[in-house]
Amino acid sequence: MNIKAVAKIKINTTNEIVRTVKIYSKCLQFCVNQAWKKRIRNNIKLHPFVYKNIRDKGLQSQLAIACIKQSCGMVKKAKTKPIIKKASIRYSFSRSASFKNNILSIATIKGRQKFQVKIPECYVKYFDNWKINESLLRIDNKGKTFFMFCFSKDFNVKNSNLHKRILGIDVGINNIAVTSNRVFFNAKQVKLKRIKFNKLRAKLQAKGTRSSRKLLKKISGREKRFMGCINHKISKQIVNSFNGNTIVIENLKGIRKVRRGKRMNFWLSNWSFYQLQKFIKYKAERKGIKIVTVSPYLTSKTCSKCKNLGSRSVCFFSCLHCGYSLNADLNASFNLAKHHSIADDVSVPVTVPDIRVYEHKSSPRTIACETMNKTHNC
Ligand SMILES: [Zn+2]
Repeated sequence: MNIKAVAKIKINTTNEIVRTVKIYSKCLQFCVNQAWKKRIRNNIKLHPFVYKNIRDKGLQSQLAIACIKQSCGMVKKAKTKPIIKKASIRYSFSRSASFKNNILSIATIKGRQKFQVKIPECYVKYFDNWKINESLLRIDNKGKTFFMFCFSKDFNVKNSNLHKRILGIDVGINNIAVTSNRVFFNAKQVKLKRIKFNKLRAKLQAKGTRSSRKLLKKISGREKRFMGCINHKISKQIVNSFNGNTIVIENLKGIRKVRRGKRMNFWLSNWSFYQLQKFIKYKAERKGIKIVTVSPYLTSKTCSKCKNLGSRSVCFFSCLHCGYSLNADLNASFNLAKHHSIADDVSVPVTVPDIRVYEHKSSPRTIACETMNKTHNC
């Protein structure tokens, strides 16, 4: 399995870089215009029409080729003609960029420029033994320059019978995540924090003054970063504590299209299930764990013991056929793990069958997010 990763690293903003990005953006717009006008979607066919022109504008040959390729990619996807304000430059390693002994050398309009790069600790492993692919140079809205190193590496999926264990993960609103090995990640603190964010946002929007708009801009990314951090911590804990070979998650495509009432819709549209699943996925894949997505249809309403439909209240599930009752999210995670093991006819130990009746009476292990909150004072 080929896994990709990105390391975003800040470099100094020099005049050459600013001018290179400006010229590259102009050339990209020119290529897009030509491709759109001539209805060309292939970079080799577009090449003779634009190459000389953009070379004359001062673009280095490898950057010119990257520019043509990028424009064709954009035109292929677009429904209306793309308008480029500020482009990200694509660098291919060994051709237009190189990285050795913490020194990044990239092509600009004034020849090669070298930058001393300080690699943050969390990215060191990628530079050690991952392959660097085509990477991006970008200047953000605040004028800071970033180089996005794109890495890839092949991982083997665990196949040994010893590891054939399956973990179901149910994501939700009352509990951020519940796993079939009975670990609960409570959403109470996160919910309170998000309510606080929403109230502050509404207040600032109503005020409408210049300083309130300034503050709004400042807090816009804060909530996103807060949720991202929580999701990183939860996914890390789930993946690191699991010693098996398959994780089963729900396919949540279209979850927001279903009408569920005003309050529920508010939470669904503001929740980050997809991000959590994405984090679990990439962290698991790097450990060689297979990720399976299954349809969420009736997973929270089916009894995980006798497979009949039961009744579900907000956070409690009870089966009228066999009398089994437990936490609704835990029941869903059992169903996910079981569903996959039956579909695949796995006759090896699964984490699920340890089922006791009156589950709700025993207090499940709860990992609340209070401790995480402390680092996020806003
Ligand atoms: Zn039942």
